[in-house]
Amino acid sequence: MKLFSKVMSGAMLVVSMGVAGVASAKTCDLSIEGSDAMQFNKKELDASGCTEVKLTLKHAGKLPKAAMGHNWVLSAAADKAKIVDSATKAGPAKDYAPTAAGVIAHTKLLAGGESETITFKTDKMKKGGDYAFFCTFPGHVALMSGKLKF
Ligand code: ZN
Repeated sequence: MKLFSKVMSGAMLVVSMGVAGVASAKTCDLSIEGSDAMQFNKKELDASGCTEVKLTLKHAGKLPKAAMGHNWVLSAAADKAKIVDSATKAGPAKDYAPTAAGVIAHTKLLAGGESETITFKTDKMKKGGDYAFFCTFPGHVALMSGKLKF
């Protein structure tokens, strides 16, 4: 009887996991703001259980892009340094675009008053992985950096 109930609960676990896998498809709305004080208004974003993320970056300041541009770039934390480096090398003509491999998603570089919404799938991300978001405008990463929970 004990063996039977173990087998049964094992079978039920498999079934419920299968159902959860189908039922868990969901798009999450996330938002974050950058400021003229070179800060994001959030240090952490939570995308746990999201199969797709709709992220809005708003530049809540007033300064022009050349002085205080902000973007939002997502990668594995381990790829952050090389991505920031690639953006610095891309330079102002390319809006410090993050060109290195490992970029999961990114917005364009925004000036004060602008906003952009991007949508990306999370199918290549690993549950519990260490993910970072940051701004690749030169010098901003030290202050403009946070963690995306997944
Ligand atoms: Zn910035």
